Amino acid sequence: MTSRSKQKEKILQAGKIASEVKEWIKPQIKKGMPLLELAEKIENKIKELKGKPAFPTNLSINEIAAHYTPSYNDETKASGLLKVDFGVHVDGWIADTAFSVDLENNSENKKLIEASEKALKNAIREAEKKSSLGEIGKVIQETMESYKFSPIVNLTGHEMEEYELHAGLTIMNIKTTNKEKLSEGLYAIEPFATNGSGKIYEGKPSGIYILIDSKNVRNPTAREILDFIADEYQTLPFCSRWLVKKFGIKSLFALKQLEENGNLHQYPQLIEVSHAKVSQAENTILVDDKIIVTSE
Ligand code: MN
Ligand code: MN
Repeated sequence: MTSRSKQKEKILQAGKIASEVKEWIKPQIKKGMPLLELAEKIENKIKELKGKPAFPTNLSINEIAAHYTPSYNDETKASGLLKVDFGVHVDGWIADTAFSVDLENNSENKKLIEASEKALKNAIREAEKKSSLGEIGKVIQETMESYKFSPIVNLTGHEMEEYELHAGLTIMNIKTTNKEKLSEGLYAIEPFATNGSGKIYEGKPSGIYILIDSKNVRNPTAREILDFIADEYQTLPFCSRWLVKKFGIKSLFALKQLEENGNLHQYPQLIEVSHAKVSQAENTILVDDKIIVTSE
């Protein structure tokens, strides 16, 4: 059993690493840079600082709101309005953070980025006032609307637990009648701003997976990979790129079998319905007697 103070130490440590990686990577992001290189730089830096990636780095461009991570042979280059969303964990305790960059020197992109960042700041300030989830959502929505943008209604902030990226409570990015308040715990707040209609649909498979059932699978390679996943990632998301690095190309077939056998769930890419641009800002907060923004 982990004591509360030990837990808090790990949560703060993960946040410190996330914040350091964020400041380190920002000036290195340039248009035309391969997304594969960017993802690996971030994930290697996390390990260098003695954390582990809590999920595959999401590098989603323009209308892709989330869940784009480079495949092992990805050739996509950074461009447009790029969202960089990554996570760090220390023994399962997570910091989840995201920022957006404009790689086109485009004023609409810059406004979208400002809107999500401002909405995140205002939402955290609202949480500090012990406001309800409905009121936090309202502040996010009103901030976006002051820029003539919309929040994405079906993407939300979330609670986090040990080895659980999405646990329990969700934090809507729109006004609701929810009177519930944030109790002690760990949460990610993540507003998404768009100049489109404000909704996402599920697109192509992302190559990002999560373990849902470790029941037996007949193929010995698939079994070996499943054991590795259960041991290394536990209940946190991972991607095909990481497994190709460890086991080679044969892991792609194993992943397919594990998905068909019901061991794994694969997440789809999340695309804005009107194919409009999307920005995102995210930080992790620890709600205790006061609120600490761990990943800032
Ligand atoms: Mn995130
Ligand atoms: Mn998140």
